[in-house]
Amino acid sequence: MSDMTRRELVGRVAVAAAGAATALAGAAPARAEAGGGAFTLPALPYAEDALEPSIDAMTMGIHHGKHHAAYVSKLNDAIAQAPSLKGRSIEEILRNINDVPEAVRASVRNNGGGHANHTLFWTVLKKGGAQPAGSFAKAIDAAFGSLDALKKSLTDAGMTRFGSGWSWLCVGGDKKLGVESSPNQDSPLMEGRTPILGIDVWEHAYYLKYQNRRNEYLAAIFNVIDWEAVGKNYEKAAG
Ligand code: MN
Repeated sequence: MSDMTRRELVGRVAVAAAGAATALAGAAPARAEAGGGAFTLPALPYAEDALEPSIDAMTMGIHHGKHHAAYVSKLNDAIAQAPSLKGRSIEEILRNINDVPEAVRASVRNNGGGHANHTLFWTVLKKGGAQPAGSFAKAIDAAFGSLDALKKSLTDAGMTRFGSGWSWLCVGGDKKLGVESSPNQDSPLMEGRTPILGIDVWEHAYYLKYQNRRNEYLAAIFNVIDWEAVGKNYEKAAG
């Protein structure tokens, strides 16, 4: 092989590798970008109308493209004022929320929580849903008695959350499953627990279709919960 050919080949391999790196970065945009500290809005993993009729396309489009996008934008504004946070993942930042400089702590709590919560939310929904299996299914039975009992617990947590917030299935420090709710965009990460399923009970998540009927929204959302994806989150958090 001539030197010229070898140099050309090496150049092409480098270009291909750079392309692959770009594609990978695009696939995991929820993490802090290397060096930049800027967060980006992850693409929805399905079309805006994929979860019809449980979640209507207009709600999905506005929820993701306007609400979640605004959290990302305001989070980046806050991070720009707190250089010590640059390059850290949002999970790491929220787990150590009290270390965030006080001047931007409220903004990071609200907008960083909003970014992390919605990033999880999109990935635990799926057209047609999916059932829990394996060790996750056993853990549900051990902790709640049955999947139906877990759904009731999540629904109760969402219904009794006054105002805006979330209903959560979490893995605690003891690796056990638990249901809780949080106000606003607070994340269980701030309390040392790992959320593996989040259900958004802000009015913006359901008002266009269900108006004041949060109970109907909560009943419908279980048609599209991807318990298989939640199970993978469980393995990661409890394994
Ligand atoms: Mn929301």
